[in-house]
Amino acid sequence: MHELAVAQGLISEAERVADMHRALRVEHIVVRVGALSGVEAQLLERAFLVARAGSHAETATLEIETGDIEVRCRTCGAIGPATINRLICGPCGDWQVDVVAGEDLLLVRLALTGLEDEDEVGDGTPAPAVSPCPATIL
Ligand SMILES: [Zn+2]
Repeated sequence: MHELAVAQGLISEAERVADMHRALRVEHIVVRVGALSGVEAQLLERAFLVARAGSHAETATLEIETGDIEVRCRTCGAIGPATINRLICGPCGDWQVDVVAGEDLLLVRLALTGLEDEDEVGDGTPAPAVSPCPATIL
């Protein structure tokens, strides 16, 4: 199951970022799954529950963003939206297009808790959301 490998990659990337920030736990993970990434959001959610067990993200919640599809036309050069069943150029209708967005599989954002320097912050603000440089999971 492809989604399990994706979920495991996601967890290990989240743990790497948590380590970097000396956080104890990953609270929330936001991932972008493009419509053309080949990953089923529902299956990923289920695989995530398996993959998170025993990790620092054991209690983390997963939020999946589905990005829009964009294509660049090889004939007229226009860049515009397309749908998964209609990968054609909007302006001229040509089907010779390159996908420029929609295949992404990215870790977008993490919320961490148990940061070591929490005491210095100490004003009861929620844990900061960390945006790692958008990292491709696979
Ligand atoms: Zn075109």
